Amino acid sequence: MSDPTRYDLAVIGAGPLGAATARHAAESGASVLVVGPEEPADPAGHEGTWAGYYDQGRLCHVLEVPLMTSLLAMRSRRRFPELIARTGIDFLTPTHSVTVLPAETGERSLWFDRDVLARNAADLGVPVDALDEQELAQAYPGLRFEPGHVALREPDAFILNPRALVAAELSAATAAGATIVRDEVVARDRVGDDVRLTGAGGGTWTAARAVLATGAATNATGLLDRRLATATYGATVVLAEVAGPDAVSMPTMMMMKVRGGEMVFGGIVMAPVEYPDGRWYLKISGSSLLDFPLEGREEIAAWVRTGGHPGDLEMARVLLAELLPDLEVLSLRTRPCLVCATPSDLPYLDWADESTVVLVEGERGAMAADEIGRLAAGLALTGRWSDTIPHAVFAAEWSA
Ligand SMILES: Cc1cc2nc3c(=O)[nH]c(=O)nc-3n(C[C@H](O)[C@H](O)[C@H](O)COP(=O)(O)OP(=O)(O)OC[C@H]3O[C@@H](n4cnc5c(N)ncnc54)[C@H](O)[C@@H]3O)c2cc1C
Repeated sequence: MSDPTRYDLAVIGAGPLGAATARHAAESGASVLVVGPEEPADPAGHEGTWAGYYDQGRLCHVLEVPLMTSLLAMRSRRRFPELIARTGIDFLTPTHSVTVLPAETGERSLWFDRDVLARNAADLGVPVDALDEQELAQAYPGLRFEPGHVALREPDAFILNPRALVAAELSAATAAGATIVRDEVVARDRVGDDVRLTGAGGGTWTAARAVLATGAATNATGLLDRRLATATYGATVVLAEVAGPDAVSMPTMMMMKVRGGEMVFGGIVMAPVEYPDGRWYLKISGSSLLDFPLEGREEIAAWVRTGGHPGDLEMARVLLAELLPDLEVLSLRTRPCLVCATPSDLPYLDWADESTVVLVEGERGAMAADEIGRLAAGLALTGRWSDTIPHAVFAAEWSA
């Protein structure tokens, strides 16, 4: 069971951040091990950990806050064509990304501030256009928007398939010599200057340094000596089955829908995406995103077994009936997801102790993963920060 190899780097977690870290480390010439379970087949009887990436679609765009998230995503995005060409695994589908919001809003979040989003896009040199109410209706004639709503559009955005992104990153990592072990790490110890990992299956591995990339479940792994300042939430995705890719012509939207001064929806409505069952689904997420805080492995597993919050089904049904009155929805169902947030809304990419770097990006970690992984691999392998973005931006906060 014990692997006698002493690796330069052991990566814990084979999600988007861990897979990207492993590939960049391996491609720099280091010997790399990545330990993480495969996606469980069925949420219904699930025990154990879960991930944020077990899905088919994530937005990849610049209409985001903070600006840093979009910058990390842009750096990732510039490398995607090469990663896709090299691995033969395509994970991008072109889409219009359209942020829809009321023309007149009082208190609003930065995510739905048109001026802030437009300035961020301009800073990154990405073309976006502002649509008034009439232009929005004309651009997407099959959709019915709430009166008084306007939009900002990024025409050259993507839907990113996070499962396929992970497959591509891991494929490139193994091509560069990395070893993947499908197990869950249950202990992380110091042995002299090295780190020793123990898997649930009894295996042990030794490395000079480790990167902990276990996503929203990080505080529940028991692998840190102190608690990171980040909460874990059980999120819900609603899948609305449609007849196929051409059932509707629509953009992918971040939408803030306000009626009579009250926000009636805030979240993502994604254009049809094909799922592993061969069917096509629109995806709606948002309403209850941060409503279900979870503590520990057992609570996470119990959340996964619920299959997601059933209350979101009615929210999605009403939203779709108003937005796409001519669309035939064949079925509606929920999927469970895990998400976390940091107090700064910035990723953590920092030392947990002398041997281990911890990585967390809760809400936009699919589009930004490749660059976060590149930065993490460099820090862990060299012990130095060498990017022009100040390292302090990514400082982890710890709970008392
Ligand atoms: C509803 C929803 C919508 C989202 N929308 C977007 C979006 O539009 N755009 C975007 O970019 N991002 C989006 N995200 C966020 C994105 O999915 C996450 O930021 C991303 O998945 C984080 O990647 P990660 O590798 O850090 O964590 P995860 O994806 O959670 O992967 C962590 C991995 O670590 C493994 N692991 C856990 N514990 C252990 C252990 N002890 N040992 C070994 N392995 C372990 C898990 O099994 C998992 O494979 C969304 C998330 C949700 C939930």
